[in-house]
Amino acid sequence: GAARIVVVGGGAGGATLAKYVKVGAPNANVTLVERSPTYTSCFYSNLYYGGFRTLESLTHSYDQLRSIGINLIQDVAVDVDTSARVVTMMGGTRVSYDKLVLSPGIDIDLEAIEGYDAEATQVMPHAWRGGDQTRLLKSQLEAMEDGGVVVIAAPANPYRCPPGPYERICMIAHYLKTNKPRSKIVLLDAKTSFAKQPVFQEAFETHYKGMIEVNLTDQIDSFEVVKVDPRTKTMTVKSGQQFKADVGNVIPPQRAGGIAWRAGCVEGRWCPVSPESFASTKVKDVYVIGDSSNAAQMPKSAFSANSQAKYVANTLVAELNGLKPLPSRLRNTCWSLLAQNDSVKVGASYSVGELAGAPGLVAAGPFVSEPAEPASVRARNFKESEGWYSAITIDMFA
Ligand code: FAD
Repeated sequence: GAARIVVVGGGAGGATLAKYVKVGAPNANVTLVERSPTYTSCFYSNLYYGGFRTLESLTHSYDQLRSIGINLIQDVAVDVDTSARVVTMMGGTRVSYDKLVLSPGIDIDLEAIEGYDAEATQVMPHAWRGGDQTRLLKSQLEAMEDGGVVVIAAPANPYRCPPGPYERICMIAHYLKTNKPRSKIVLLDAKTSFAKQPVFQEAFETHYKGMIEVNLTDQIDSFEVVKVDPRTKTMTVKSGQQFKADVGNVIPPQRAGGIAWRAGCVEGRWCPVSPESFASTKVKDVYVIGDSSNAAQMPKSAFSANSQAKYVANTLVAELNGLKPLPSRLRNTCWSLLAQNDSVKVGASYSVGELAGAPGLVAAGPFVSEPAEPASVRARNFKESEGWYSAITIDMFA
């Protein structure tokens, strides 16, 4: 019969992969398993805090994917039998595969920070997975009084979207500056430095002077949040100091999505993959793409996940059609909005090379925005980022 390709996770990686395989090999039997009836992107969700985007404009339907013949199963994949090659859903449905692609994104590590359990996420949201959490953080900001303190905890590397916490700071500051100008933002960072730091710090000074307190970890103090108390909205850092929040945004350490653990693909926190193919190095006939994979120097971003999806689809389609795969490239660009029409970017392309004596994905042609760039450059970046958002969501869903 027709080859059976099963994809778990209908996000940046999985939706793209399912579509490209179905379009490239129409006879293949492509199944996409997704727990949610619609997809609300995390990417671009910081713009919602700044008032530049509605949540509705970040929400996408799976109807078009259905209409091209992808079997959509709206359910949670709870188990994988990798020897019988069967995925089991929470609702009891079982689906057999020849090739399985996992793109389940991240799980929030609810064991990493003392006191930060599932209940605490409803009081001090992470807003690091799309939809409800994003809305909850926004509503807390709206309910906060002028003069309130927003405390944001950022995790150690690697995690989903390295520049994300700092874009979020800018977008929240933009909202507060116009609506609640006496308010403050405090960053507690487990890291000593962060992505695009020079341009972010410039923006903190030029756009939001006096509003943002940056606490980075150094040799003396660790600002890694190790404990939270949701009753008092207090965060305790490793050095012992406590910070009380009116709005607390805890972005904890993360790990591969649960189904990747069930499938036996995880080592440490993430899934090791072959850089040539994104095939799991642990389990046969399983590929892992997107945030759950350990793609070495490639950051965990929607751009990366989408690029990896096309890279893997290219191989699968060639195989299904009995052809040799065409050469395919991996790329990433991440834009961050600092203020209206002021956007910065970082990116590179990636190819298989040597990393610490083993084959890995190595960055080539990296670029990053610099401080003091003309406003016209920054405005052009913003236009580019808008173009990218519509392009990637069309690529995924239309
Ligand atoms: P996701 O896109 O999260 O997709 C995973 C899907 O799998 C989800 O829909 C989930 O419901 C589903 N799922 C998981 N497990 C199961 C299961 N067992 N059964 C059924 N369904 C399941 N990236 C950029 O490129 N640019 C940006 O500007 C950017 N900004 C960001 C800002 C913020 C605030 C955040 C949090 C992230 C940002 N990102 C950005 C990162 C981007 O959102 C992720 O890297 C990207 O979504 C990863 O794609 P993925 O396919 O791995 O996971």
